Amino acid sequence: MSGTVRSALGPIQQLLGVDEARERILRDFQPLLPRRLPLLDTLGLVLAEPIYARESVPPFTNAAMDGYAVRAIDTLSARRDHPVQLRIVGEAPAGGAAPRWREGVKQSVEPGTAVRVMTGAVLPPGADAVVRFEETDEASDQSAVREVVSIYRPVRAGENVRPAGEDIAAGTLVLPPGTVLGPAHLGILAALGYTWVLVHPRPNVAILATGDEVLPPDYPLEPGQIRNSNSYVLAALVTQCGGIPHLVGIATDHDADLERRFRAAAGADLILTSGGVSQGDYDRVKEFLRARGQFDIWQVRIKPGKPMAFGFIDGIPVIALPGNPVASVVAFLQFARPAILRLLGRSDLEPIRLRARLTQRIENSGQRRHFVRARVERRGNELVVTPVPNQGAGVLSGLAAGNCLAVVPEEWAEAPAGSEIEIELYDTAVLRQILL
Ligand code: AMP
Ligand code: MG
Repeated sequence: MSGTVRSALGPIQQLLGVDEARERILRDFQPLLPRRLPLLDTLGLVLAEPIYARESVPPFTNAAMDGYAVRAIDTLSARRDHPVQLRIVGEAPAGGAAPRWREGVKQSVEPGTAVRVMTGAVLPPGADAVVRFEETDEASDQSAVREVVSIYRPVRAGENVRPAGEDIAAGTLVLPPGTVLGPAHLGILAALGYTWVLVHPRPNVAILATGDEVLPPDYPLEPGQIRNSNSYVLAALVTQCGGIPHLVGIATDHDADLERRFRAAAGADLILTSGGVSQGDYDRVKEFLRARGQFDIWQVRIKPGKPMAFGFIDGIPVIALPGNPVASVVAFLQFARPAILRLLGRSDLEPIRLRARLTQRIENSGQRRHFVRARVERRGNELVVTPVPNQGAGVLSGLAAGNCLAVVPEEWAEAPAGSEIEIELYDTAVLRQILL
């Protein structure tokens, strides 16, 4: 699939397939060096160390219900109309090491006795089950200090008891490296006493817009000027895939300004630029990159968004995306997103891919992989996908109206109406729309 073409400007440009370009870029990305971060900062990050249980969870056998800790065998004959009566010998609130025995220090719950326990209390020695208050005369007997409890129902040994280590046994491997930390994992780490965790940190991604005509959004426009929307879409996409975006401004199409802006990105783990890499007379970014670093300049077989470059400036990887707003998003999703996920240590770099029935014909000239902005929905048992009306490479409202990308392979000259086609989902919220 790859080859070379000589552009009007002269430099050798490589013609590359989408998958080849992605592989070529990903070759140069490794997970960021692990850092120890406060537990609450690790949600969504990838664990870089094995977590072993230093203790059991729960650390001690305890009552799962408010009630009476008993010897199960004492309750065998208990019936509502023939309750078993047990003498109350102590109380055990949660948080105490041992029950508060009523009559001096006792060693254990003896036959015929019970200890009043609260949920989470250490199960008193000798007891092997808990009878819930609801299965006793607790509600009907309002006396200030009860001496005896009536049990209405037999309990099995172990009933309403949480054994030590029921959740996690001490010494076991609880979370292997590579685990993507979710809320429950943070809970497990807290339960085990970990407040700092070794993870692959979030990559810092510098975002640089280019173009003499491009102004910040809070500027009034003169004729011929447009506002910078790319940096904002790209920053949002970076955040969505777990990176930290840093807007380093807008470079004019001049080397000195480009140099200054790239310097502002020093310290980033990745630099994304938009614009300036196509065939126009003033597309200086391409020439600047070629002179300044080691760069591959590509024409990728992708629609929208053919022109692209990848390389390094002062050791920092730079993905140069096209300037057209939709093209830059499509190129981000195909090339920058998996790179950021790899920096995060993630191994699931692919979007969700499904198949759907196409409602309208899509043309695909030029042997490029065509990413069509589209809406997928469910009709009965079938997923159907409809291209949004305006497919212009600069038309952000088309992107906003869609909820997926429909993919027409490069070797198809068209995708006929009614054909089955692959779609890519980048937002799990869409799953709600099509699953529910
Ligand atoms: P270029 O690749 O620099 O020739 O840009 C292609 C098109 O995208 C031109 O119409 C630019 O005006 C537009 N464009 C470039 N950068 C931005 C940006 N940051 N925000 C919005 N549009 C842009
Ligand atoms: Mg430009």
